Amino acid sequence: MPPIQPGVTALGHGPAELPDMAGFYARSGNAAAGMAEALLAELEGAAATACFSAGAAAAQAVLAGLQPGDHLLLEAAGYYEFREVISRFCARWGIAVSLVDMTDPAAVAAALRPGQTRLAWAELPTNPLWRVPDIAGLARLVHGAGGKLLVDATVATPVLARPIALGADWVLHSATKYLNGHGDLVAGALSCARLDDDWTEILRHRTAAGTLLPPFEAWLLLRGMRTLALRVEAASRTALRLATWLATQPAVSAVHYPGLPAHPQHALAAAQLEGGFGAMLSFQLTGGRAAALWVAERTKIFRRATSLGSTESLVEHRRSTEGDSSLCPDDLLRLSIGIEHAGDLLDDLAAALAAA
Ligand SMILES: *Cc1c(COP(=O)(O)O)cnc(C)c1O
Repeated sequence: MPPIQPGVTALGHGPAELPDMAGFYARSGNAAAGMAEALLAELEGAAATACFSAGAAAAQAVLAGLQPGDHLLLEAAGYYEFREVISRFCARWGIAVSLVDMTDPAAVAAALRPGQTRLAWAELPTNPLWRVPDIAGLARLVHGAGGKLLVDATVATPVLARPIALGADWVLHSATKYLNGHGDLVAGALSCARLDDDWTEILRHRTAAGTLLPPFEAWLLLRGMRTLALRVEAASRTALRLATWLATQPAVSAVHYPGLPAHPQHALAAAQLEGGFGAMLSFQLTGGRAAALWVAERTKIFRRATSLGSTESLVEHRRSTEGDSSLCPDDLLRLSIGIEHAGDLLDDLAAALAAA
């Protein structure tokens, strides 16, 4: 097991030596973060990975590389907080943003501005309807216009998806979620397909902003990642079982899960994801908002809270969390499936739905 090395500086850099930027001064690197980065780069099939103090910090490092006058394509139905943060950043710095449905290649092609579009920001899958874009198709379109493709694959995890092999330039993870997986750490990771000037800028921004993942946190992340595959596989199996069951319930009007044959991108999901369809699902209630709120309050194993990707199962009325700018249906509950006994989780939902 790696030791935790909190030292701020390192001995052994003679005056003739160039500083080793990964260990020279603690704002630019630490041993545990370096180990987590090496492990993630291998999982992603990436040229390199950089760990950050949050997924949001990784996003800021990418945004900081944009210039006034650039154009950015952003998934319209993606993670709401990033939609707000990115839109505000771009408005302030004179960067044009087009919100598009990345599952619609014609819409993406129409929104691209060749020579001006620097970046397309997709999610695999989108949150909270879990729609699945065609990463290889997107990469072709975006590269054709001279831009780069970033995929936020937080929900897919590197266990189920490797976007770089499909053509993505950057893969972002909120390591707060599945990578750590124990609900006790905020962290981010960004991986790149190749080492280029943009990547150097991203590392420079991390050092300048001081958003590296610190040693204790990186150590926790390494510990969490030891069980990543086991957790994701178990939770995905349970999610498929619950989604399949929910789709048969009269109190449920719609189930959103890429593993269901009725999902609009089921075939694409099966082709791009390996070993499962992920552990996030959402469902809508025939009884509307009131029924949704009621069920969320009555489950006992599913705890009512936001966030995802941890060992414990969570239920959330997503519209309430997202607030005024939410595009989420009001009758929708979002489930993050944990690693509890699948039968217990099903019984828990069944009891709450029966009472509703
Ligand atoms: C949570 C989340 C983020 C933000 O990451 P933080 O670690 O909270 O900064 C980004 N994308 C997705 C899909 C998320 O779920």
